[in-house]
Amino acid sequence: MGSREGLPRSTTTAGADKRGRGRVSARKARERILLVCAALILLFAPSDVYVIGHFSWSPLIVRLEWAGSVLVTVLALRKVEPHGVPIVLSALAILSTVLYGALAWLTGGTSSPLFHWILALPIVIALVLPDVPGAAVGCGVVLLIYGGLLLGWAGEPIAGIVRWMAQAVVVTSLVYTVAATYRRLRMRETPAPDAQDVAMARVRASEAAVAARDEFLAVAAHELRTPLTSMLLHIEAIERTLPTDAAHAQSVHVPPTEQKRIAAVARQARRLSGLIDSMLDVSKLTGGHLSLELAEVDITALVREIVHRFAPDAAAAACPLTLRLDQPIVGVLDATRLDQIMTNLIANALKYGAGAPIEIGVEGDEQVVRLTVRDHGIGISPADHKRIFLRFERAADERQYSGAGLGLWITNELVRALGGRISVHSTPGAGASFTVVLPRRPTTLIERRRSAGRPTGG
Ligand code: ADP
Repeated sequence: MGSREGLPRSTTTAGADKRGRGRVSARKARERILLVCAALILLFAPSDVYVIGHFSWSPLIVRLEWAGSVLVTVLALRKVEPHGVPIVLSALAILSTVLYGALAWLTGGTSSPLFHWILALPIVIALVLPDVPGAAVGCGVVLLIYGGLLLGWAGEPIAGIVRWMAQAVVVTSLVYTVAATYRRLRMRETPAPDAQDVAMARVRASEAAVAARDEFLAVAAHELRTPLTSMLLHIEAIERTLPTDAAHAQSVHVPPTEQKRIAAVARQARRLSGLIDSMLDVSKLTGGHLSLELAEVDITALVREIVHRFAPDAAAAACPLTLRLDQPIVGVLDATRLDQIMTNLIANALKYGAGAPIEIGVEGDEQVVRLTVRDHGIGISPADHKRIFLRFERAADERQYSGAGLGLWITNELVRALGGRISVHSTPGAGASFTVVLPRRPTTLIERRRSAGRPTGG
């Protein structure tokens, strides 16, 4: 009997999507406004006939050119980079002023109703393009030159021209101030889209790099595992032909120095195999592909077997192993993962507590099973108690103790996947005691996972 559980990985790009949608809808809104403007330019064509008193092609051509330039701008805005948008819109504002001026000229010059309203042009531009203050300024400058020339041409006295130009300057300055303030306030509300784009692109690139690294690690570990497994089988076959103690070393025809070399090769091959297993676990855990095989397990028997397996290593490290077992405890959990958890903790106890006894305990109640591994080695400073459960974090002297800093991270992830928790009690120089508390039944496991916000599965 068994069931499988998968732990999916969560990544979030919803914020980026929302911002992207926001920018697209802002662009669409601007397009709509510009198209309405183009339509209005053409709709007011009959007013030219009314003003002049007869039909004339010239104002109509100017209006067609004007509406056409608005359409071209709409198309151009779809292609340009974000930083080019204000330039294109300012160019449209200047061109619009020139064409409006041409229309006023063709429909009666300074006596045309269009000239009468010409000072309102920067205001209209600012309403259509509220976040491009430069457009209103461009419009104002063209307006100043055009109005001055037209009034001079019409024989207006210098004082009248100066008064008109002063009004144009005041209107343009006011419009610019309002538009610039509006733009500043908007920018304060939302960070510049460019900065957001760059930040999002960086996040996406680093996510892709991490995913590529994890995939590479998974493939590399998998490919390395196959030849190494066969190598280990051969090494173990050779080891079986050798005597297990030094007293009988002379009884076989392999010289003792060669026997030592074979033992060293076997040790390194097993270490390599352990590292590759860690790499596989890391890629499974980070990729959310860890699966649990839940089944009824005699936990006390399993721990006894693991401790028995460690007997030769414990003898080599001069660590007498003591096993404290309560009554037999059965639980529904993943035996392989539990084995891995205990193996990591006992291996660490042997490494960091060599030369001193190690006590392993299993006790439990109706709900949970509590597993303890206690050594009397170098211990861990309280400042490092949290950090050592993180990936690649180590607290011991690198030169004295080799390691990748992955064992406790993997152990912690496995314990959490099983719905439990791990804790450490230790002071430097006084040894370390690691305690793992696991739920004994899947119902408790599922409830705990829910309350811990972890995914649940069948
Ligand atoms: P590694 O042992 O490969 O460095 P681990 O993730 O297993 O990686 O352990 C992380 C760190 O926690 C170790 O580098 C060590 O500093 C500390 N540590 C773990 N177990 C013990 C222990 N039993 N006694 C003292 N320190 C320990």
